[in-house]
Amino acid sequence: MFDVVVIGGGPAGLQATLTLARGQRRVALVDGGAPRNQRAVQVNNFVSRDGIPPKDFRAESRRQLEGYGVRLVQGLVRGVHGEPDGFTVDVDDDTRLEARRIVVALGVRDVLPDWSGLAALWGDTIFQCPYCHGHEVRGTRWAVYADSPHMPQLALLARAWTDDLLLVDRIGLDDDTRARLQGAGIVIDTRDVVGVAARADDAQRLGALLLEDGSRLERDVLLLHPPQRQTALVEALELALQDGYVAVDAQQRTSRPGIYAAGDLTTRMQTAITSAAAGCVAAATIAHDLAGLRMPHDG
Ligand SMILES: Cc1cc2nc3c(=O)[nH]c(=O)nc-3n(C[C@H](O)[C@H](O)[C@H](O)COP(=O)(O)OP(=O)(O)OC[C@H]3O[C@@H](n4cnc5c(N)ncnc54)[C@H](O)[C@@H]3O)c2cc1C
Repeated sequence: MFDVVVIGGGPAGLQATLTLARGQRRVALVDGGAPRNQRAVQVNNFVSRDGIPPKDFRAESRRQLEGYGVRLVQGLVRGVHGEPDGFTVDVDDDTRLEARRIVVALGVRDVLPDWSGLAALWGDTIFQCPYCHGHEVRGTRWAVYADSPHMPQLALLARAWTDDLLLVDRIGLDDDTRARLQGAGIVIDTRDVVGVAARADDAQRLGALLLEDGSRLERDVLLLHPPQRQTALVEALELALQDGYVAVDAQQRTSRPGIYAAGDLTTRMQTAITSAAAGCVAAATIAHDLAGLRMPHDG
């Protein structure tokens, strides 16, 4: 019987596991090995880890966890059954783990639009977080694909990185927003994108957006925030959602007693360091709950 099984070995699950292990808990970490940022060349904006390749971030974290005697399991969790102090976790290689508490840190899945060429360029010059990858391409020709009301705001923020910004309007901007964008020097185009093309001299980098009328817009960067979906396990666990994300309290407790969640699956504020921080909170909450103590914010 483990004190905790952590499911998902991204920044959230790795940090939850580290905090639990340092708290002298018996902990197992199960990971399917498909991180969201696997297409990215670097993890940026993580102090002391700025620029580290994602695979190195994980490898170093796992090496440290092994030093604490954590059981690392490679595989996909098919099901979690039971209740606090008596959960069973079934992994696809038929490993069965028993635990008193569960952390789900499964991340989310990006549902990329069906554009030609997109999969090859996603994660480097086509990305969703300017704080993560904007600095490296500052001052170049950017575009923002606005298919949700949040994206015009992101375009206004993105002016910090470039003066040359074009917004593809797929939501039908209202007059005020259009005027604000134009006042910030942002060009607006209402034609839809059907594909992206790499640069002639670098197959890894965006060169142009391909539009529905057959024309090309030469661009170096595209900000794209595709819709996201939860993993199958979240649905199987029947965790309560809020706006599509797993609902948690300030201590990372889900709607199901004994199951805690941390990282991208709980929030649109999706960065490696905030995910890790949430994993740390989840672990601290579990320590309190197992000891029958209240967390400071429990009132
Ligand atoms: C292209 C791209 C680039 C990014 N660049 C940056 C950046 O530079 N800096 C930054 O701060 N953020 C960046 N992000 C965001 C960052 O990657 C995420 O916020 C962060 O990885 C979330 O961590 P997480 O632990 O919640 O989930 P993830 O890192 O997605 O990890 C979830 C893990 O859970 C596993 N899993 C899922 N289901 C199961 C299951 N049933 N059983 C077992 N394991 C399972 C998956 O295999 C995966 O390994 C980027 C995101 C993308 C898409």
